[in-house]
Amino acid sequence: MRKRLVAGNWKMNKTPKEALELVALLKDKVNTADTDVVFCVPFVDLIPVSEALEGTNIAFGAQNLYFEDKGAFTGEVSAPMLSEIGCKYVVIGHSERRAYFGETDESVNKKLIQAVKYGIVPIVCVGEELKTREENVTIEHVRSQVKRALVGVSAEDAAKTVFAYEPIWAIGTGLSATSEQAQEVCGAIRTVLTEIYGKATADSIRILYGGSVSGKNSEELFAMPDIDGGLVGGSSLKEDFATIVNCK
Ligand code: PEP
Repeated sequence: MRKRLVAGNWKMNKTPKEALELVALLKDKVNTADTDVVFCVPFVDLIPVSEALEGTNIAFGAQNLYFEDKGAFTGEVSAPMLSEIGCKYVVIGHSERRAYFGETDESVNKKLIQAVKYGIVPIVCVGEELKTREENVTIEHVRSQVKRALVGVSAEDAAKTVFAYEPIWAIGTGLSATSEQAQEVCGAIRTVLTEIYGKATADSIRILYGGSVSGKNSEELFAMPDIDGGLVGGSSLKEDFATIVNCK
């Protein structure tokens, strides 16, 4: 039985002071009894947010890491650094990083391996552009992203990974995929995981949907058999996030 996971991706929002205000708004409103909840925040917010979350069951996570342990990589942040401050999750391969910062399937693969090595759960984002959907090759595209993310990854390490299906046309647009569209692709991700690792491992891996999730559509999306929760952008910055976490 997979436990639901709802992850907030704050993107490049909230100064440390503003971050504390948002944590104060949300921390007593989200019900963590049946749902794992994580705030994926900007690097400078990690320590203040971690302190503000002490005594709660809400985890904190980063939105990226670099795949080397240390060295001359100006501007990067390593897995050992994140692990030492108690960071439990990291978003990897978000479409914004793929589009603006040169993230590739190869770097996603290296970052996934590095995160797992340091005990950080990678939330690996995959998803298609509108053009790909219109050309009816969404499933092939997403299958290829998943396979390439997992090159050289053992079943044991794959089981420590979370996937997030995020159709690019649905991110930040207010236009969510329908629950049927989201289920079709999340089901296809489960199928490719089964092909690589077998049913037991595939059934243990959580697959999230992301793309304009809100308090209005979360219940229907999360009711689908292969959708184990959400990766939430815009709605993670407001009280609506608690409605999403607490939905049936
Ligand atoms: C995201 O940033 O991962 C995301 C899904 O954004 P939004 O919820 O705003 O569409």
